[in-house]
Amino acid sequence: MTSAFSRSIVQPVKDFLFPPLCLSCRERLASADRYLCAHCSRSLVRVDETDFTMAVLKDRFKGSDIISSFFPLYYFEEEGVLQHVIHALKYEEMTALGEMYGETIGAALREHPDYADIRVIVPVPLHAQKERERGYNQSAWICNGIARAMGLPVTAGVVRRRKNTRSQTKLSAALRLDNVKDAFEANAASAGTIRDAKILLVDDVITTGATIHSCALPLRSAGAAAVVCASIGIAKLNAPPTAGL
Ligand SMILES: [Zn+2]
Repeated sequence: MTSAFSRSIVQPVKDFLFPPLCLSCRERLASADRYLCAHCSRSLVRVDETDFTMAVLKDRFKGSDIISSFFPLYYFEEEGVLQHVIHALKYEEMTALGEMYGETIGAALREHPDYADIRVIVPVPLHAQKERERGYNQSAWICNGIARAMGLPVTAGVVRRRKNTRSQTKLSAALRLDNVKDAFEANAASAGTIRDAKILLVDDVITTGATIHSCALPLRSAGAAAVVCASIGIAKLNAPPTAGL
């Protein structure tokens, strides 16, 4: 049994032996900081919904009527602070990070007109084999935070990943779409949850949008009234794309 007294002794000793470090710059954290130091935390930039990166994303799926709204929280850049955050969430079992950013997303969505009347929050699923290997789906943890902030249920298993797609990091936008084509299918047992519902679909990072778009497709085919989506990050564009859109 762990008493409050022994915890009060153990935690300072633990912090002395293993001081909590910023998961981006590895500097020692101040006692008020969680996961990131104040400097790294400040360097995360909230996405401007009217900017260039968002315009390109919306333009890519214009007219498809599959996803009605995108809400990424921060810009994601190679070797940036957010990449370290996402790495820790995906590969170091720091699932509490997902909940923490999920709560921030949920607080923003509560005020957002496009995100009213959502019935259920659904994480973009991993392939079953990958989830077994990792032990968890990082997007499900983001959903838990959003759910708490919005007072909505999370339902995993509504949609299933049937292809264990290869890594997309080196593929162009067009090849990414092809890579994840037919990668997902709706779960027939969830037909009642999906039909006529507005569904909030959640991923960790949106790069070209190909994955979340192909995950939304079977939900719309199964009768979802609308699919809106949210993520912690979106790959920041620094220059207008020229080819391979
Ligand atoms: Zn730092």
